Amino acid sequence: MAERLFFSVPLSRISQLELIRLQARLGAEMSGPARVVPAANFHLTLAFLGSVSQQQKAALLARWESLVVPEVSLELDQLAYWHRAGVICATTSRTPMALGQLAHRMRQDAAEHGLHRSHAPFRPHVSLFRSVSQLSRELPAITPVPLHINEVDLMVSVFEPHGVEYHSVRRWGGAGSLSPGNEPR
Ligand code: ATP
Ligand code: MG
Repeated sequence: MAERLFFSVPLSRISQLELIRLQARLGAEMSGPARVVPAANFHLTLAFLGSVSQQQKAALLARWESLVVPEVSLELDQLAYWHRAGVICATTSRTPMALGQLAHRMRQDAAEHGLHRSHAPFRPHVSLFRSVSQLSRELPAITPVPLHINEVDLMVSVFEPHGVEYHSVRRWGGAGSLSPGNEPR
């Protein structure tokens, strides 16, 4: 059975709370059928991999087994509306080089192994609203939300009747780091 996979960075509880506050502030002005992204789904995608077979997944995990996650700080310092995707997100004006390099390696690896080929440049962002068909007014300036990044997840995306759910398949770095010889969770 194939699974829909992507590499992403999880958000700390504090960052989640700040983004919930931001959503509440924006939501009051939002009209139409926009969907609020649940805080449990907040994430920062590094590379979307698309539909991955079990065999491809095993090979992917083997290739990335010894991934060392760079420790970087990033500020979500602006809001953006991406019309084609229908997304309002918190994004950054400065992408840390080490994070950009990691995303690039992951995207290149995916393309080289028959997985999703990303064309758009990497723009670190956290989606806050989806299915936004238009903006009723300009997005406000925001107080930057700092993110401290030292963990990466391989996530599986599952479509459930109530909406999409993500689950971590494997985590690298931070407290979830595995020492060599340990079984993956
Ligand atoms: P929904 O599809 O229900 O709106 P979602 O987009 O968050 O929710 P997925 O489509 O499974 O759920 O996507 C998982 C992650 O991969 C998200 O961060 C999404 O933005 C990203 N993603 C999905 N499709 C692509 C794509 N074609 N190119 C780049 N990134 C993608
Ligand atoms: Mg989607």
